[in-house]
Amino acid sequence: MRPRTLLAFALGLVLLVTGCGDPGKNPGKAAAQPSASAAPASTPTPSPSPKPRPSRTTPPPKPKLRPVPKKLPAGLHRGSGSPGVALTFDDGPDPRYTPQILAQLRAARVTATFCVVGRQAKRYPQLVAQIVREGHQLCNHSWHHDVDLGRRPLAEIRADLERTNRAIRAAAPGAPITWFRQPGGRWTAEELTVARQLGLRPLHWSVDPQDWDHPPAKTIIKRVESATHHGSVVLMHDAGGDRTQTMAACRRLIPDLKRRYGIVRLR
Ligand SMILES: [Zn+2]
Repeated sequence: MRPRTLLAFALGLVLLVTGCGDPGKNPGKAAAQPSASAAPASTPTPSPSPKPRPSRTTPPPKPKLRPVPKKLPAGLHRGSGSPGVALTFDDGPDPRYTPQILAQLRAARVTATFCVVGRQAKRYPQLVAQIVREGHQLCNHSWHHDVDLGRRPLAEIRADLERTNRAIRAAAPGAPITWFRQPGGRWTAEELTVARQLGLRPLHWSVDPQDWDHPPAKTIIKRVESATHHGSVVLMHDAGGDRTQTMAACRRLIPDLKRRYGIVRLR
């Protein structure tokens, strides 16, 4: 049945797109989200191997993931470090939206921090270079937006962050990569340790309008303006799905926040 196939495909797309967000602030939503991103829809079901029954000599399949701590670990940066507000844009770069945000920031003469995904950086190195050239800061956001990264073995975490750093450095040689942000904000203490070993400072946020969930621009504006104070770190997305509403919201938010608090570099 054709319409049915189409519907299933559309549903799959929606799941994939929403799963890429940063459901960090709202624990209820955060718990509801991960299954979509954690298990790629494309993973085929294992072929029916002719194993008669589980034998005692079968090696354990995969190391168990550590649980996500109920509370965020200590030591995360959740403020801008000054009275001004810091803007952060996650999941890019994306050729549809990153240039738009860069143009808006340029027009307002302010800078932001871009939390880039390694795979995207490798794909769009010229956008990473432009981010740096225009004076913005860089943040490592993992290789492929693995919301479970912090739960994996330390060596895997390290390899993922290093691979992402390499892609960023290939695109923008010599540019400092100051920060690391765990996808979905699902931090673990182990991950903080690895980030520190690599010289990356753990960046969380204090204002999350949940723009990854595609609310209308006016809702994004309202959420940001009601939650922002001096020293806030605002989380938004310039990739990972349709960001039209985020782009529209920023046209209002960037000048407003600049006037009310000043928009500053993270420190
Ligand atoms: Zn993200």
